[in-house]
Amino acid sequence: MRPAAVPDALVVDISAMRRRDETHTSLEHELSPAWMRDALRDTDAEADAPAHVRLDLVVQGDGSVIVTGELRGGFHVPCARCLDPAAVNADGKVTAMFVRDGAAHRLPDEDRRDDRDGDDPEGDDDDDGGEDLWPFDGVRLDLAPLLAETLKLAYPMRALCARGAECRGLCSQCGAPLNEQPADAPRCTACGVPSPRVPEVDFIPSAEPPRTDALAEALRQAEALKKLREPE
Ligand SMILES: [Zn+2]
Ligand SMILES: [Zn+2]
Repeated sequence: MRPAAVPDALVVDISAMRRRDETHTSLEHELSPAWMRDALRDTDAEADAPAHVRLDLVVQGDGSVIVTGELRGGFHVPCARCLDPAAVNADGKVTAMFVRDGAAHRLPDEDRRDDRDGDDPEGDDDDDGGEDLWPFDGVRLDLAPLLAETLKLAYPMRALCARGAECRGLCSQCGAPLNEQPADAPRCTACGVPSPRVPEVDFIPSAEPPRTDALAEALRQAEALKKLREPE
């Protein structure tokens, strides 16, 4: 399923720049909702508005290219409690270094593109290895994978709909949306289970945890749900 082809605007002809003796170029581009949906196709995210990117490219003497700039936009994911759309802000800086194929193996392992399980993607982008490294053929530089990755990194562990902490979620017994029921109803009006209310366990982690914590988070939720269903 590839509905959105790589927009040519995201491919920079580095060899042509070299022929013209250019070392800098910048570009602005609007990522269409269809393109964003394609980038996020492995997730349950929905994009209905374009994102805007502004990037500066600097070609280094050794042929590598430093890309800096920013992405502004967002998408929706299902609310962690009620499954209604929850807005996700994907605004952030883009920092990457494209190295010619074959050059990447000379770089120390810890500088390679494996920092997603520890580093804050928006964290400091100074010289301590925070730059993402991407291979390219030295001729055509395709920015699409970098921007797709930037969007994916904005995908949150959990997000809440516009109701925020007030979201009452779904009945733990029958799945009925409790936001549509009177807040003071002593029973779920759909199934009659007593005292349907927002789980007291806060499902939203205070800081964005690394993705490797997904299993721990799932176990924690399973534990919380079990507690919720146990009769007092
Ligand atoms: Zn909600
Ligand atoms: Zn119910």
